[in-house]
Amino acid sequence: MNDPVVIETIAGLRATLAGREVAFVPTMGALHEGHLTLVREALELAPTVVVSIFVNPTQFGRGEDLDRYPRDLEGDLAKLAAEGVEVVFAPSAEEMYPPGGAGTTVVGGPVAGMFEGRARPGHFTGVLTVVSKLLHIVQPKVAVFGRKDAQQLFLVGAMVRDLDLPVRIHGAPTARDADGLALSSRNRFLSPEQRLAARALPRALEAASSAADGGVDAVVAAAQSVLMDEELLSLDYLAVVDPATFLPVSDDHRGVAKTIVAAKVGDTRLIDNDDLYLNPAR
Ligand code: AMP
Repeated sequence: MNDPVVIETIAGLRATLAGREVAFVPTMGALHEGHLTLVREALELAPTVVVSIFVNPTQFGRGEDLDRYPRDLEGDLAKLAAEGVEVVFAPSAEEMYPPGGAGTTVVGGPVAGMFEGRARPGHFTGVLTVVSKLLHIVQPKVAVFGRKDAQQLFLVGAMVRDLDLPVRIHGAPTARDADGLALSSRNRFLSPEQRLAARALPRALEAASSAADGGVDAVVAAAQSVLMDEELLSLDYLAVVDPATFLPVSDDHRGVAKTIVAAKVGDTRLIDNDDLYLNPAR
């Protein structure tokens, strides 16, 4: 397989993509099977796939892991070459945020301040701003995001609808390791003991789904009991939300809902989610 062409400038990318029908996969690099799942779906959706690799500084808060965030452009390009990706956009921070900018941002609605947004103030403004910039630069017909980052996927979809951006947002399933843990670039920071503890996240989601017949309270209790048993894990939030609004469901909610969870294991923050069908037998 040929290596993808790596383009570092906005002008260069626009010239390369002129007239092409593009499926776009934005990433921060350090690619794993989860990212490659997105790439494989993108390859089915349009003749040209563009993957961006950009560790976006504006979505990291002060004291977060921007400096230690893994970077491996060589390894990433080899993986993308093996998938048959032709174009990689890898801009510098200066290219994306040149000096002299006026600081215009895209701010999400109230959901952007909840869950991940509450734990990481400003995170979703950084995400929505960079995604909006990338969509304007790449002008894809479809952009592929992971369902692993469910709130991000919800907010990007909402932005596209609210601002009438001419792109379809496609959600791709979560890739997991054999032990159930969702793949994440941050998993490499887990020690073997922490890694075992992290498995409580997918186990809690499984417990949640199994309790769905008992209603929301039973779901939360089932998940909580799994998470509370794990000493190395400190729970940030656990909620059951309506996929249409991303707001917590009411007690009598029937139909599809989403259990979302975030926890810290050591210094590493992990998130996960799963769909379930709430059908209270009351
Ligand atoms: P990131 O590089 O972490 O910003 O992620 C880039 C894209 O990959 C986002 O749309 C994520 O939701 C998606 N992604 C990350 N981890 C996974 C996974 N385990 N399975 C599927 N998609 C993922």
